[in-house]
Amino acid sequence: MKVKVAILGCSGRMGRNLIQAAYEHRSIELVGGTVRESSSFADFDLGELAGIGAIGLKTSTQLSDLSEAEVLIDFTSIEASLENIKWCQKNNKSLVIGTTGFNDEQVQIIEKAGEKMPVILAPNTSVGVNLMFKLLQITAKAIGDYTDIEIFEAHHRFKKDAPSGTAVKMGQVIADTLDRDLNKVAVYGREGITEERDRETIGFATVRAGDIVGEHTAYFADLGERIEITHKASSRMTFALGAMRAAFWLSNADNGYYDMQDVLGLKD
Ligand code: NAD
Repeated sequence: MKVKVAILGCSGRMGRNLIQAAYEHRSIELVGGTVRESSSFADFDLGELAGIGAIGLKTSTQLSDLSEAEVLIDFTSIEASLENIKWCQKNNKSLVIGTTGFNDEQVQIIEKAGEKMPVILAPNTSVGVNLMFKLLQITAKAIGDYTDIEIFEAHHRFKKDAPSGTAVKMGQVIADTLDRDLNKVAVYGREGITEERDRETIGFATVRAGDIVGEHTAYFADLGERIEITHKASSRMTFALGAMRAAFWLSNADNGYYDMQDVLGLKD
């Protein structure tokens, strides 16, 4: 049985990749999608939006047109996602939220919604990145107290934030595992620092260049050897495919608030 999925935010960079990933997925049936009310892509063929040719499904501006969908995948904006949760709760839909940037209070709203519906909050839906978080945990536990830890990330020239949310999350996972406070041990630049490296610190280095989709490496370096754990994204399709995996998993889940570690079975 295929899971019926709709995409919210179809005309966005991620939306277009999500349409293609859903349409081509063997366990998912794409049943519709939304664009903003004011969008010039309203009533537009979803396949044409995604660049895969017409597929006979049109974009809508109303969530009520998505009654056939079991799981909605939302890569829109913070404001839109918070509205979409309310509608899903009222209409018994499951929701995968890929939108990023929620503050603590907004995360709590989503967490609370999980008491009445199945919802995944996944600021990074890449399967590889989420597996990397687990590998960082294992490595930090085994050797983190004896090694120098540095995190390197590289992205395209248009990226607005630095270091990336994923790099910060890598630091957070390592710091949590080692019982360190990231706010106290993170070092974002070493210019002017002349004394020997403090073992407790976790360093961050950033490169912005050309069209790099996203690269992250954590170094655990001792005298004589080092471990490097690297993830490289080569296209947005990695996020779209991870979102499909999340949607499929969520279609079988009870009411609850979940993340990608649940989807991948990586929780302790
Ligand atoms: P984008 O600006 O290209 O796309 C967002 C789209 O949502 C726009 O087309 C916008 O018109 C549409 N939209 C806004 N409100 C809407 C509404 N009420 N109904 C329907 N459509 C609406 O941005 P993007 O690069 O596609 O990213 C979207 C979000 O996903 C951002 O928060 C981004 O940080 C996040 N993101 C997450 C991951 C992940 O792995 N989870 C990966 C990439 C991007």
